[in-house]
Amino acid sequence: VFGKNPVRKQDRGDGLELWVQSVFHTIQGEGPFAGTPAIFIRMAGCNLRCFWCDTDFESSEWHPTVEQLVDQVLTASLEVPGSRLIVITGGEPMRQNILPLIRRLLLYEFRVQIETAGTIWVDGLEDVMSFCPSRDDALTIVVSPKTGKVHPMVERHAIAWKYIIRNLEYSTVDGLPIFSTQVPGVSQPLARPPAGAMVFVQPCDEQKEVKFTKANTEACVRLAKKFGYKISLQQHKILGVE
Ligand code: SF4
Repeated sequence: VFGKNPVRKQDRGDGLELWVQSVFHTIQGEGPFAGTPAIFIRMAGCNLRCFWCDTDFESSEWHPTVEQLVDQVLTASLEVPGSRLIVITGGEPMRQNILPLIRRLLLYEFRVQIETAGTIWVDGLEDVMSFCPSRDDALTIVVSPKTGKVHPMVERHAIAWKYIIRNLEYSTVDGLPIFSTQVPGVSQPLARPPAGAMVFVQPCDEQKEVKFTKANTEACVRLAKKFGYKISLQQHKILGVE
């Protein structure tokens, strides 16, 4: 949507009906589970408006109940029985009350990963995180900060931090972004990870500006070597899957 989306507030409803952009199966391309077959639930709407965001999360008119949504996931799962990972992404997945959805997915023994920009927390999520104590990786959060601060609960629970890197727009001190994602050219260091966190740097896809994407990729290599970060490539784009 490239910064043209409406900024939408957190919906504190009961979560029994959700606004969903799409459900599809693919290969998780990014972050700690990159390369894993997964079923994606793309939630509609976002509370931020990143000017380079290339995701469509606004065009859906689908408002399924949780049961309808889980049925859709189960149907997708029959087509790809090797996919036991459900990625809840967006838009901003924490903008809606995804607790009832997550509870049901965990009952079906899926692993669930939430991909968030980290500005919002869904109250009660911390309780669901201990829902399946015998399965440490049952529910995981990966945060990709887009603002100067992330919610303290996200900071506490995220297992990995992923930063989108544009060449020359990162700090020489820690290699992480120092420009706003909301307004081009405005100085705004993004929230930093706690000490010892798993950090990924991922080159910003500049679309048709291939030479800029290449420069971003080279910057990620430099930053990984200098600071010990891991590189995240958008494997789904390389593989030519959705
Ligand atoms: S937070 Fe994520 S989904 Fe929302 S506008 Fe930014 S990049 Fe796009």
